[in-house]
Amino acid sequence: IFGGLALLFFGLALYMSHMMSKRAMVPIVQSYTRQREFVSDASHELRTPLSVMLSSIDSLEMEQTANTDPFSRKLLVNMKDEVKRMAKLVSDLLLLARSDTPEYKLQVDTFDVHAQSEIVVQSMKAIAASKQIDLQLEAEGPFEMEGDVERIKQLLYILLDNAVKYTPSGGQVRLLLSMDANDSNRKLVMVVEDTGIGIAEEEQKQVFHRFYRADKSRSRQIGGHGLGLAIAKSIVDAHHGTIGVSSSLGEGSTFTVALPIARRHV
Ligand code: ADP
Repeated sequence: IFGGLALLFFGLALYMSHMMSKRAMVPIVQSYTRQREFVSDASHELRTPLSVMLSSIDSLEMEQTANTDPFSRKLLVNMKDEVKRMAKLVSDLLLLARSDTPEYKLQVDTFDVHAQSEIVVQSMKAIAASKQIDLQLEAEGPFEMEGDVERIKQLLYILLDNAVKYTPSGGQVRLLLSMDANDSNRKLVMVVEDTGIGIAEEEQKQVFHRFYRADKSRSRQIGGHGLGLAIAKSIVDAHHGTIGVSSSLGEGSTFTVALPIARRHV
């Protein structure tokens, strides 16, 4: 088992160094575009070896017998978790690198945000319930808007997933939808409130930056790699909206998103 896995990791390391040396031959152009292209290419190329590794680990798991020692089983479980984490990181990086490009196109439709939010909240209920967190959607909709429904759902997943992740057992998470009637360009307002650990004031702006994780020691105990809110911000930007956070340490956080409901107002 371990010979095989060692070979897989060695292969991945070799593959990466090969890619890097290929790049080193290209004259160094310190441009943002080039960096972005590199991240995009590298993430794209890494997806295949990572999925090969995952399916190899799956096969090894299936080959385990009653005689396989517990230490080997544990190593295999750890390895699978880490490879999955890396695969998620790579797909998030790819998404972010692509979201910066002019070819990043939204699939614009008209849809009911209330109905879509119900779907997202329902699918998060089980994970919230596993921490005895009360997760509620409060809205009087329907709220029609023009936008990319999959991206808006992804935005809600990121905010709700964080709210559940950073709220201790027994807490509360609420998603509130409303229409900002005071604005001449009518906006849909989405608020995700939690009663979790909160974010210190000096860190609140930075949480939208790539790879930023507030209070390193606390965040390290909770899984994540600091790209979720950067992706959330890129989705909001693509819809010409705004996103912000207000929070008190130990009391909870409130993330507020405002999105124009019609593209023609943009
Ligand atoms: P990740 O959760 O993977 O670390 P994110 O980009 O989603 O990355 O969030 C960045 C950081 O912002 C997190 O590491 C955490 O410190 C903080 N954060 C995000 N959402 C919350 C929340 N609801 N409550 C407390 N802290 C949060």
